Amino acid sequence: MKKALSPSSAEPPAPFDHLDHRYRGENPVRTLGHLFRPDRGRLALAVAIFVVKHSPIWLLPLITATVLDVVVQHGPESGIWKASGVLLFILLINYPLHQWYVRCLAGSIRRMGTTLRSALCRRMQQLSIGYHSRVSSSVLQAKVVRDVEAVEQMVQQSSDMGLGAVVTLIGGLVVIGVRVPEFLPVFLVVVPASGFLVMKLRGRLRSHNESFRREVEQLSSRVGEMTTLIPITRAHGLERTALGRVDGSLRQVFAAGMRLDVINGRFGSLAWVILNTLGVLCLTGSALVAYHGWMAVTPGDVVMLSSFFTVLTGSVTTLLGLAPILTKGLESVRSAGEVLQAPDLENNAGKARVESVVGRIDFEEVGFAYENGEPAVDGFTLSARPGETIALVGASGAGKSTVLNLLIGFIRPTSGRILLDGTDMAGLDLRSYRRFLSVVPQESILFEGSIRDNVTYGMGDSDEETLMRALRDANALEFVNGLPRGLDSVIGERGAQLSGGQKQRLAIARALIRDPRILVLDEATSALDNRSEALVQEALTRLVHGRTVFVVAHRLSTIRGADRIVAMEDGRIAEVGTHEELLNAGGVYAGLQPAQPR
Ligand code: ADP
Ligand code: MG
Repeated sequence: MKKALSPSSAEPPAPFDHLDHRYRGENPVRTLGHLFRPDRGRLALAVAIFVVKHSPIWLLPLITATVLDVVVQHGPESGIWKASGVLLFILLINYPLHQWYVRCLAGSIRRMGTTLRSALCRRMQQLSIGYHSRVSSSVLQAKVVRDVEAVEQMVQQSSDMGLGAVVTLIGGLVVIGVRVPEFLPVFLVVVPASGFLVMKLRGRLRSHNESFRREVEQLSSRVGEMTTLIPITRAHGLERTALGRVDGSLRQVFAAGMRLDVINGRFGSLAWVILNTLGVLCLTGSALVAYHGWMAVTPGDVVMLSSFFTVLTGSVTTLLGLAPILTKGLESVRSAGEVLQAPDLENNAGKARVESVVGRIDFEEVGFAYENGEPAVDGFTLSARPGETIALVGASGAGKSTVLNLLIGFIRPTSGRILLDGTDMAGLDLRSYRRFLSVVPQESILFEGSIRDNVTYGMGDSDEETLMRALRDANALEFVNGLPRGLDSVIGERGAQLSGGQKQRLAIARALIRDPRILVLDEATSALDNRSEALVQEALTRLVHGRTVFVVAHRLSTIRGADRIVAMEDGRIAEVGTHEELLNAGGVYAGLQPAQPR
């Protein structure tokens, strides 16, 4: 039994270290660079292959011009055959080259996406509980799924289309520069002009994209909220209110999306008209130059220049069309970066690992204030002996849950300190400490999976006998065996098919199997029927035996079973004592007691 408990050796080596600390105030393009670092060789190869495979596009007008001049000037026929041969060769090798290119590129992109997703999930496990209580889980979910997809698409499309356009532009300009250098300046004006257009319009796109993304995230969290609330909504006939909230968000997504589309449309069509007008001017100009013999321009050159104009215009519009994809992708890089660079980490690095726990806890003048500054816990001083059960009681808002969160280390004292076996917890690696800790939350959190998986969560190496004993001690074995598939019955999300008492007993079994030294219990306030209550109580009695326990207690049976009761009021300890002592004292605790027969 003890063996199964020993902390599962060290953390696995993090294969994504190169992602750490790379996001703080970083330009998203450089972030992308970091993401692709391990694959840079492969990417360079992909670019090289692409340049070769893409050559027909910019060589075609040149070869056409050569063939045409041979025809017009009655040059030697071999010129035609040579040109066609070259063209056929580069066309045929396109097939194998393209396969090779896809393999190199796709591998890098998929690996980058996987790395980024994994890094995001890892970071979520490091971020403090405070961060998670502020940021909705569906927003984080969208980042892992949607944003990473956008980044992948951006790289994919900007490689296929963007690389093609850039290679064509460069190749085309080089050919023009060599054959008709007089025309190079004209082309050189168009390219920077287009570049300027992109820069100018991208600035406006960015802000629209950002507001669109926020609206979609908002929608995603609204829908998440709506689905969670469905049982409550339906039970109270509040469907319209719930739908109203979602509709409001939908309208905003619509408006932001429309704004984005309109701007995209304006941007694209304006560029298209401008570039094609310039193309017509170029055709007319070069034709006039050749017609009047102002420069040494052959008929082949006129054809070449005019087809280059079409090809280069196409390339520039492609680059322009790429701007929104780039903007969206870079926006997603930034969005993922928000999580990766969030400074709100639980800081465990370099702190002392906890190798064993006896179970003595000392709160020394502990104070804690949430962001609003109001102290939620104040001057809290209490020592728990190993094996002692301390019940926290008090009105709602008295600070009981805050004390439990301080004990788990989800939040750190803003004043005073908490000692674990005499050592200040501020200097301890909390992850190693929590291996000796079990938490039974107010609402049992079960995940979609079998009962076995739920109970052995994180304790994969526990044997069948341990599992059976835990279930038996938790008074859960009987009902589990009564289920059609026993231990392997799959329970729905949040354990929807189980009763409250059954879920609690599974949560107790989960805590038992970890055999913790310290136990944190937030007792459910919801009432159980008498039989369930008795079964849960019996299981709890077994669970708390021999451990240091802090329990927020509502049931009289739990309170009476505690060694000491701490009555809290406005974040402070009002009184400490046993049930009888406190009742006789006639203070806060006595006031909390309902007039019920005992
Ligand atoms: P209890 O569990 O006894 O009902 P809590 O510890 O939850 O009390 O709350 C103590 C006080 O701290 C209350 O005034 C509550 O409003 C406040 N509080 C609790 N959680 C937060 C939070 N996340 N942010 C700000 N204030 C909080
Ligand atoms: Mg509470």
